[in-house]
Order: sequence, then C-alpha cells, then structure tokens
Amino acid sequence: MPATPNTLIELRGLRKTYRLGDVDVPVLKGISMTIHEGTLMALMGPSGGGKSTLMNILGFLDVPTGGQYLLDGRDVTTLSANARADLRNARIGFVFQNFNLLARTSALKNVLMPLEYARNRKSAKEERAWAESLLERVGLADRMEHQPSQMSGGQQQRVAIARALVNRPKILFADEPTGNLDSKTSEEVLRMFQELNEQEGITIVLVTHSPEVGAFAKEACHIKDGLVVGGAYDERALS
Ligand code: ADP
Ligand code: MG
Repeated sequence: MPATPNTLIELRGLRKTYRLGDVDVPVLKGISMTIHEGTLMALMGPSGGGKSTLMNILGFLDVPTGGQYLLDGRDVTTLSANARADLRNARIGFVFQNFNLLARTSALKNVLMPLEYARNRKSAKEERAWAESLLERVGLADRMEHQPSQMSGGQQQRVAIARALVNRPKILFADEPTGNLDSKTSEEVLRMFQELNEQEGITIVLVTHSPEVGAFAKEACHIKDGLVVGGAYDERALS
C-alpha cells in the first residue's frame, strides 16, 4: 500500500477581498484545499478567477483577508511582514510569467541576488559555485555572463527558475511561467519543472493553460470565480 503523502499546505476557507474606493470586491470566496508534499499541481481556470491572487498569498507576496493558511501544520495566516519574508526566503521559490529578471545584470548575478537576503550566508566563492551549478542544471552553462536582455524568453525563464532555486526552496510557485513562451519552449520549461519535482523532490504548484497538463502534472485544481470547482487527486502523486 502506498504511504499517505504528507500535507504540506492546507487552506481553510481562504478569502481575499479587495477594496476599490468604497466597494468591496471579493476575489477569493472561501478556498479550501490541500497541497501534499512532493506533488506537482497544475492550477487552472478562466482568467480573472483568482489564480494569481491565490498564488501570491501562497507565496507570501500578499495576505488573505479571511480563512486560514497552514504550512507544515503551522498557522501562517497572521504572521508579521518580517516573519513572512523570512519564511519566503527560506522555503519558497517564485517564478513569474514575465520572468522579473534584472535585464542588464548577468544571469549569474540575477541568480545570486536572493542570497543577499538569506540567513546563513556562505562564502562568496561557495555561493558563486552554487549559482553556477544551478545555471548548469537549467541548461545555461554557456550563458552565465549573458544579460537577460540578450537572451530568448525560454532562456530568461530558465534563469528565473535557477534564481528561484538558489535558496533551496521546498516549494516552487510559478504563475503562468509559460505564458510568454511559444509552445515548444513552453514544453521544455514544463519538462524542467517536472524534472525538479521528480529528481529533487520539490513540491510545485503552477498556473498553466497548457493543454498538455495531464502529461506532466500529478494533479490539477480548477479555480473559478474565487472558488475551487474541481480537482482530481491523481494516484501518481502517491508514489
Ligand atoms: P487570474 O490570475 O485567475 O486571472 P487574478 O487573481 O489576477 O485572476 O484576479 C482575480 C480578480 O481580482 C480579477 O477580477 C481582478 O481584477 C481582481 N484583482 C486582482 N488584483 C487586484 C487588486 N490589487 N485590486 C483590486 N482587484 C484586483
Ligand atoms: Mg493570473
């Protein structure tokens, strides 16, 4: 019998309401879901449904207005901004649709950047060697000194993935990481996420519209109008 996977994240009735002028705009209306350790989850659903809002809360880039967020069994809903930043640096990697790289800074320096905010710094030499190994890992051994402005979209997203890995995160969140890429490059980037999940055991949640979702994700979760409207737990996630 396969072992029961550990719960990494649990959301209970998570809500987010924006205030525009004097109007309340409910965006997340009570999201309850479980994210198991080691999964590769595709978050799907129509535009405007609240996927990015949810991802930003999961990645501690934003805070909910109601409900609970438990990470490793610990309630992280009401942490201070500093505590959230610490947790984000130590545990979480984030990849964006538009890469969010410094365009005129080398790939290597972009990857090294998050270490500036890390606890337990290593020597400059060790940090550099680690960043180089990550760029090799994403297939950019020969592009380390190139600037993102000199790279293709797929290469830029690989730099962004290496940067997201530099603090050895347990979880990677990626919000439409292939949204600006052609279909062939998208597939390569999705395969990279799959490899990181399978080989490094990193838990990954990514927003995607890719029709190939079933081929690489272990499970899918559908969000519509601020609610979870479907999600099948694939047995492959148990192995
Ligand atoms: P998705 O990523 O699924 O397309 P979003 O989470 O970006 O959806 O947006 C969900 C809804 O929340 C949209 O109607 C959007 O206009 C609204 N929204 C997102 N961010 C804000 C904000 N900062 N202030 C007000 N409304 C917002
Ligand atoms: Mg979005």
